[in-house]
Amino acid sequence: MSAPPGTSKRKMHWALRVNRRNRTGGFAMLLVILGLHMAQQNHGPWLWLAMVSQFVVYPQVAFWLASRAADPFEAEIRHMQLDALSFGAWLAALHFPLWIGFVLLTATSQNLTLYLGRRGLRQALTLFVLGCGLAGLVTGWTVALQTEPLVTTLAIVAILLYQSSIALDSQRRSMRLFDTKQQLRANEQALQQQLTEIQSLQAELRDQARRDALTGLFNRRHLGDLMAHELARCARDGQPLSLLMIDIDHFKRINDTHGHQTGDDVLRATARLLAERTRASDLLFRYGGEEFLLVLLPADAGVAKEVAEELRERYAASPLTAGASQVTATLSIGVATFADHGVTFESLIEAADQALYRAKRAGRNRVEVA
Ligand code: GH3
Ligand code: MG
Ligand code: MG
Repeated sequence: MSAPPGTSKRKMHWALRVNRRNRTGGFAMLLVILGLHMAQQNHGPWLWLAMVSQFVVYPQVAFWLASRAADPFEAEIRHMQLDALSFGAWLAALHFPLWIGFVLLTATSQNLTLYLGRRGLRQALTLFVLGCGLAGLVTGWTVALQTEPLVTTLAIVAILLYQSSIALDSQRRSMRLFDTKQQLRANEQALQQQLTEIQSLQAELRDQARRDALTGLFNRRHLGDLMAHELARCARDGQPLSLLMIDIDHFKRINDTHGHQTGDDVLRATARLLAERTRASDLLFRYGGEEFLLVLLPADAGVAKEVAEELRERYAASPLTAGASQVTATLSIGVATFADHGVTFESLIEAADQALYRAKRAGRNRVEVA
């Protein structure tokens, strides 16, 4: 077994220190239990020496070795395997006391199972039995199952403490897992929300790029994008399409007389008025400073002229609210129709422009068809 990926050195060292603390504490308890039981029997000094070495010195040596090993986790697994082997040997050396056997086997098998799963359990049982057998060969096969009430009580307490520490640890782990999952879910939701915001901002930006800031109408850039598509559709369906090039007459005077701010208000009011008079299928653009372009879909030159006349009349009759003042203005309109006056966007614009120029020349507040 090696350390899980992403385990830092500090974390490994911390895990080893926890292992040392657990082993030192657990082995101290075992020393008391096994020592009390051994005191009832007749054992030579060598076994006492072995007991102190195993249960006092060995936990410290194990930690020292593991913290210096190239792979500390691998080293810890080896120590746990050694625990299983030696616990088996102690059981045989003490003549198989039942309660002590229970404590030793439980501790060693659960330790290895926690780290290696089923494989750990198999290893623990095999090594424990092997330790038992090897020690039995040396110390003989005397069987004395009983333990004194004090030893039995301590064995039960030891098992209780051991199980409680495992349960507490697993409870801590599952709480941490739960918290992490909650955190992940919250992060995911926040990300999703940000994504939605970004998408709607993108859509807003896309729309802003198509629109004129002053009037909110589509701008000239978007006109170019749309017209190629619309003209292709009209050519395919054999439908007419008309352009109305609309220019406010003497707009410069409005600016000069009332100020640029009022001029802006007049432009906004004009945009509103034109928008009110257009159908859903029509497209209205701010073409330039005080010029607007209305695309009628579908409309031949006759219909377009009627619409243009109606717009012109209504505009001339409607005083525009600009700030505190009311301004009356007029429109000149040049009309060009696909395919009568041109088949490309450029030629239609040119034709509408020339018609507009004629309307201006003819005295303004007029509609002229190309
Ligand atoms: P004509 O009847 O021949 O069209 O005369 P005109 O004064 O309307 O046309 P001209 O092209 O001489 O002047 C257009 C004016 O529109 C000039 C420019 O300062 C003004 N203008 C262009 N864009 C804006 C704008 O966004 N706001 C304001 N207030 N004025 C603008
Ligand atoms: Mg103009
Ligand atoms: Mg003008």
